[in-house]
Amino acid sequence: MQPDLLSKLLLDDIGDRHVHSLYQELATSRRNGHIYRALRKSECSPTNQNENWEMTPMEFGDSLEKVSSEVLVCTKCRLCETRQHAVPGEGLGSAKVMFVGEAPGEQEDLQGRPFVGAAGKLLTELLQSVNIRREDVYITNTVKCRPPNNRPPRKDESAACRPYLDRQIALILPAVICPMGNSAIQTFLDSDKSVTALHGIPFEIKSVTYFPMYHPAAALYTFNLRKVMEEDFRKLRALLDSVAD
Ligand code: URA
Ligand code: SF4
Repeated sequence: MQPDLLSKLLLDDIGDRHVHSLYQELATSRRNGHIYRALRKSECSPTNQNENWEMTPMEFGDSLEKVSSEVLVCTKCRLCETRQHAVPGEGLGSAKVMFVGEAPGEQEDLQGRPFVGAAGKLLTELLQSVNIRREDVYITNTVKCRPPNNRPPRKDESAACRPYLDRQIALILPAVICPMGNSAIQTFLDSDKSVTALHGIPFEIKSVTYFPMYHPAAALYTFNLRKVMEEDFRKLRALLDSVAD
């Protein structure tokens, strides 16, 4: 199909129930190597289409590679001044699950890869404990450059970096997004509830399922948390198994 024709169909008929299936189909077709990507919103109500539809207009021809190459040279916030390497994220472009941490730490900054330090080693082990290969998921952070001394990212830094995360999500269309730790959870959820209350319980916003988790770094210092995280990974595994491919 012609790209321009598809875009037009979407724009002209938005709100029509029929387009729902077309729209979903587009999202899937990208997974099969085609160029379209789109975010769907919750069920389409014929009476209230505007509230039930949300499109994320994406640049034609966007790709994870393009996002990464832009991140590597990005100067949109002050964190570019102190980084060694930006850390765009890595993993499978068609991953069913995406893990989102807070920000790169020292090792990540040195190597340009996410979760390669002690917390990353634990993340890899937790994945292995439920037979998920690290290569089969996508791993990234809310901000792509290391804050000095690992301080939490500031609001303006998170806001400046957010479009990269949104593009990655729209391109991957994961069935489940796992924000790890309070900072990542708050990126997605407009709530002050902490990870203690939210971890291990899936919730849905705009057709995307979120499964909040503790940050693996927390479990490095509190042994009992490792057990809690293992249990959450078992729940995540069951959740993923219940989602059709
Ligand atoms: N902690 C994070 O939040 N992200 C990383 O990539 C590494 C440690
Ligand atoms: Fe750009 Fe994000 Fe790095 Fe800031 S943290 S410089 S917005 S890539």
